[in-house]
Order: sequence, then structure tokens, then C-alpha cells
Amino acid sequence: MATIAFIGLGNMGGPMAANLAKAGHKVNGFDLVPALRGAAKADGVTIADGARAAVTNADVIITMLPAGRHVVSVWTDVIPCAVRGALMIDCSTIDVESARRAHMLAARAVLLSVDAPVSGGVGGARGATLTFMAGGEAEAFVAAKPFLEAMGKKIVHCGGDGAGQAAKICNNMILGISMIAVGEAFVLAEKLGLSHQALFDVASTASGQCWSLTSYCPVPGPVPASPANNDYKPGFASALMLKDLTLAQEAAKSTGAATPLGQHAQDIYKAFDAAGNGGVDFSGVIRHIRALADN
Ligand code: NAD
Repeated sequence: MATIAFIGLGNMGGPMAANLAKAGHKVNGFDLVPALRGAAKADGVTIADGARAAVTNADVIITMLPAGRHVVSVWTDVIPCAVRGALMIDCSTIDVESARRAHMLAARAVLLSVDAPVSGGVGGARGATLTFMAGGEAEAFVAAKPFLEAMGKKIVHCGGDGAGQAAKICNNMILGISMIAVGEAFVLAEKLGLSHQALFDVASTASGQCWSLTSYCPVPGPVPASPANNDYKPGFASALMLKDLTLAQEAAKSTGAATPLGQHAQDIYKAFDAAGNGGVDFSGVIRHIRALADN
């Protein structure tokens, strides 16, 4: 069993660190927030005095942080304290450029590194059923895989440095756009006097079928487990969807890709977020669409 440093014990990192401890690893964790350190301790994580202290003697160093600047800053801070041969894994969702910078910091110290953002949300983090999209050299991926398997169900090697982040933002751009499309279809159906169930029964088995409709239906009823049945809570916060759509737009600008629908989706989630809905599940955007229709 390995010694693992886990930095960032928030909504996702807390349960992920707990699952590594449950799998028998010695996990040294750290977060800036004292209450999160307390919660992780109760879940079997040993709490270190700081990020640098956490990485001392660690075979693997994992970060789960809000954004690229946090990851680059923490990696810059801890890499000089890492032992020879330590493996660096970042599971945060960040911009591709910062991910590549982090890989470069590791390479300069002759450490293997992987960017491994996740899909599956807090439920997946708790249940160890996350999907990991990994980027990095084959040797780094092979070394990281057993640790990712203790936190997830599906582990995909997407390519070289930053490829995991690239896959994540492309996937979530599809998700953001498709949720708006499904929401618009239900609002139009309402105006046409068509029941939610009738549209669902047709579209879920016809060419309109997609995950936003069949697994995460934005109206209550057809999919009992979807957040729409619980006033759009909990789930994947709209603020996080806006973050991912913004990362996609930044990547589109820097690469010259045309993503007109991705840009429009970003604008729609920006307006939804600005109206105080940042904490609401992203499928709640249907309320915003309905309100537009009523004007
Ligand atoms: P969170 O805000 O709950 O957790 C991030 C934690 O990092 C916070 O507790 C914060 O205190 C800590 N932190 C920040 N700087 C630090 C530092 N220098 N040292 C130590 N700790 C530090 O966020 P989260 O929901 O756990 O998400 C983490 C990452 O995973 C984000 O990049 C997010 O986009 C991504 N993600 C989240 C979800 C989700 O459903 N919540 C799903 C997929 C991906």
C-alpha cells in the first residue's frame, strides 16, 4: 500500500481521499478550511500541517483544487519537497494551458505526472464510481491507474499532457449545449399543449435521445432520480457548468476553433448564474428558458 498526499479536501476531494484510505493506503491530507480537515480525519485521512508537510514521504501526490492557478501554485510549492520518483496527479478541472504548465513543473523535477479530471459529481466521488479522463505519458498513466481505480469505475487514457482536460471540457460543452436544447424542447412542448411524459416517451427512444434527456431530465416526472424532482438540488451546480463552458471558450479562442453554440450556452449560463442560480443544478436552466418564453 502507498503513502498518498491529498491536497484539496472539498466536495469532491474529501470523499475521494476517504476512498483511498478505505482501500488501505496511508493518506496524508490537507485543505485550507479547518472544518474540511476535521471531516476528512473522521474518514480515515491523516491531517498534515500544510501542503508541503503532506507530500513528505508520499509516493503519490494528488490535487483536487478549484482552478488552474491553484494547481500551478500548489505544484510549484510542493514539488521541491516531493521524494524522488513521486507521481503527481491532478484531478481538478482546469484550463489545458495550466495543466500543461503543471506537467512541465513535474518534468523539470523528473517526476511523472498525469492530468486526470473527473466526471460523475459528488455522488460518483462518494461511491468511487467516477470516470477519469487522463492525459500524460503512457508510463505515468500506468503508474496512476491503480490509484484512480480506487476512486472510480472507468479510467480512460486520452493522450499526452493536457489531453484529460481537453476531453473534459469538450464533453461538458456537449452537456451544457444539450441540456439547453432539451430544456427548450420541453418549454416549446408546454406551449404546444404536449405533456412532458409524451415528449419524453417519444424523444427518449427517437433521434432526440441524449443523456440530458434520459438520465437527467430537466422536468419532474419522467426520470424520478433527476434533480428536477427535488427542486433542482443537489446535483451539478450551474456555477461549475459555467466554469467548464468558460474553459471551453478560452480553449476555442486560443486554438481558433469555432464553437458558436458553446459560446451561446456560456452566455445563457452566465445570465442564469447572475440571477442568483449558481448553486442550482444546471438542469434548472429550463426555468430561465421558460421565463424568456413568458416575456
Ligand atoms: P471545492 O471548492 O469543494 O473544493 C476545493 C478545495 O480546495 C476547497 O476546499 C479549498 O479550500 C481547497 N483549496 C484551495 N486552495 C488550496 C490550497 N492552496 N491548499 C489546500 N487546499 C486548497 O470544489 P469541488 O466541488 O471539490 O471541485 C474540485 C474540482 O473538481 C474543481 O476543479 C471542479 O471544477 C471539479 N469538479 C467538481 C465536480 C462537482 O460536482 N463538485 C464535478 C466534476 C469536477
